[in-house]
Amino acid sequence: MTLHPISLAGVIGHPIAHSKSPQIHGHWLKTMGLAGHYVPMDVAPDDLETVLRSLPKAGFVGINITIPHKEKVIEIADLVTDRAILIGAANTLIFRKDGKIHADNTDGYGFVKNLQSAGIGWNPGAGPAAMLGAGGAARAVVASLLDAGVPEILISNRTRVRAEALQQEFGKRLRVFDWVQAGNMMEYAATVVNTTSLGMLGKPPLRVPLDGLQKGAVVTDLVYAPLKTNLLLTAEEMGCRTVDGLGMLLYQAVPGFERWFGARPTVDSATRAAALR
Ligand code: NAP
Repeated sequence: MTLHPISLAGVIGHPIAHSKSPQIHGHWLKTMGLAGHYVPMDVAPDDLETVLRSLPKAGFVGINITIPHKEKVIEIADLVTDRAILIGAANTLIFRKDGKIHADNTDGYGFVKNLQSAGIGWNPGAGPAAMLGAGGAARAVVASLLDAGVPEILISNRTRVRAEALQQEFGKRLRVFDWVQAGNMMEYAATVVNTTSLGMLGKPPLRVPLDGLQKGAVVTDLVYAPLKTNLLLTAEEMGCRTVDGLGMLLYQAVPGFERWFGARPTVDSATRAAALR
């Protein structure tokens, strides 16, 4: 009998108990009958590099990285993809056989794939996108929307300078709106994205006026707890096509899983159910 090595992967954050990645990867390992384990690890910032350098020696083939380590890991990695450099953060590491740590960012892939796979006929070229928020997740969303062919991004953030910083970095296809005028972006937008934490369980509600939303616009929310945020409920009532944020979380996990465990997983209703358990 041939014994195959068991691949180990996991997710590092601080804290880590909230992460849904163990359920997602665990579900795929089980349903695909693969020999592997995916473990959550709570690692303090000061210990991150030591832990990352040790894990390959313990049989780990890669790691997901979550808050607060996504930016720091760019400095630690030996090889960083262009898109991770552009975004300034990585969420997926591959421990190469030559000992080098390879860092990538799959959040933007997950974001776009979620819209493309929702069966709503999303056309990024249909018109400008309106984006609420300019935090960490927003950087990946901006990069992926531009890449997908959105002609212009209208962006508004409570702290205006953060939106202006994105405009400086990503260029003329971004137009900044004051937070008090965020509602004005809606009447121009074919795609609307909430990248703030507003509307999430335990956070304040999103109070941006939505009466300018265009019928037929595609509206998505990065917040996935609750799954149907007030933004999505209002957008549905106004005849928009809506996509919840859980799919982004599922699709961003696909490239890492494939690299580590050697098989491409499918995102389906069973994966969604596993993530929500
Ligand atoms: P972050 O870096 O902390 O950014 C938070 C954003 O929310 C900033 O734009 C911030 O504005 C805004 N915000 C927070 N409180 C606000 C308030 N009271 N009023 C107005 N704006 C407020 O967080 P992040 O990592 O970008 O994550 C943002 C959200 O996306 C979270 O809910 C996270 O769970 C979700 N997310 C989902 C996925 C997914 O796969 N679906 C992936 C990544 C993130 P300021 O700049 O003014 O503070």
